[in-house]
Amino acid sequence: MRIKNKNCKQNIEKSSYLLNQIDKPLVCVKCSFEFTSGQTDAKSLQDYSKFDVGFKNRGFQVWCRRHEVNVCHFKFGNKQPEADFRCLEKRK
Ligand SMILES: [Zn+2]
Repeated sequence: MRIKNKNCKQNIEKSSYLLNQIDKPLVCVKCSFEFTSGQTDAKSLQDYSKFDVGFKNRGFQVWCRRHEVNVCHFKFGNKQPEADFRCLEKRK
């Protein structure tokens, strides 16, 4: 039982990249301008932004719902990107 817990802890540590470690967030230039110029009472740009994020036939897109503009588009070409859909949560 003890070995099982140790292995489980090691597996969680290996998957820690699934936790939120974003240090360079994507931003919509229009949302950013409105937020930094004080045109909104949102507490943060993250709270103000409303993004749709997902795969499409040409790749992966981040779309601003507020302004209906592309924020970023990733093209994968012929390579299949590595994707991990596991949901890892920190213990509270
Ligand atoms: Zn926007």
